[in-house]
Amino acid sequence: SVPLAFFAGIGGAARHGIMFKGGNYLQTLAAAETMVFDKTGTLTEGVFAVDEVEVYDASFSTGEIIRLAASAEQMSTHPIGRAIIAHAGDTGLFAVESITEHAGMGLEAQIDGAHILVGNQRLLERRGMDVPRLHKSSSTEVFVVYNDTVIGRITISDRIREGMAEILTRLKEKGIQKSIMLTGDRERAAKHVGDSLGISEVRAELLPQHKVDEIEKIIAAQEKGHVAYVGDGINDAPVLARADIGIAMGGMGSDAAIEAADAVIMTNDMSRLVSAMSVAQKTMRIVK
Ligand code: ADP
Ligand code: MG
Repeated sequence: SVPLAFFAGIGGAARHGIMFKGGNYLQTLAAAETMVFDKTGTLTEGVFAVDEVEVYDASFSTGEIIRLAASAEQMSTHPIGRAIIAHAGDTGLFAVESITEHAGMGLEAQIDGAHILVGNQRLLERRGMDVPRLHKSSSTEVFVVYNDTVIGRITISDRIREGMAEILTRLKEKGIQKSIMLTGDRERAAKHVGDSLGISEVRAELLPQHKVDEIEKIIAAQEKGHVAYVGDGINDAPVLARADIGIAMGGMGSDAAIEAADAVIMTNDMSRLVSAMSVAQKTMRIVK
């Protein structure tokens, strides 16, 4: 039989804005010792803004580079795509003949007979293109390619979630001994966020399927205690499903994430994670 305290715990958590899909997840979270975080939209706000457009081919202006990139991204729901579209404003976008998305890398589109690629270093390498040069900045970047020429580079930045450092400290007090970041973003951008938040274990440049391999390795290496994963659900539903307990930020409203997760934070308020651990641990003290 399920102890009554579990029902009370689930109800208590719901009042704090966290939906647990079962009493067993309260038990798992109460004994979590490692917490793995997605970067974009989880440790950061997930709201990007274009900082800079660099021109690599003088036959294009910054305006044209942005307009081509925004046209290619016009169907995109990814925060990077949304930032580029917002930056283009109401310049009017080109009609797109076809689009192929590459999760964790970018996309390719056919526009007015030309092949446009908007994506990261890995996608360029996959297409056998030379990456212009390595940049020392710590921002997120995407390259814009017109047929086979890299015509520009767009740098985009996100903000670290307000109060996140304090939340990590409070989670430590609740028993989280290790915090790890997983991200598809490049190493430099990831390290910058990790350093600001005191997360020393950063695994970057991961494709969505590699994030699943990483969580499996982390679980296999865990000697005692459980592994929790916290993500926003964009490209990480399989990771949410694979963790001992997958916690989704539901404020963004991704159905796939809510489906795959074991617990959902119903708002965009990350401090609820601390409340969730408190409720879980209180419940376990009553059950025992
Ligand atoms: P994260 O793991 O930080 O949530 P993603 O896996 O969603 O990031 O994306 C990883 C990287 O792939 C981005 O930093 C970007 O370089 C590239 N990328 C993903 N989607 C797009 C897109 N729609 N347009 C351009 N680049 C993209
Ligand atoms: Mg993400």
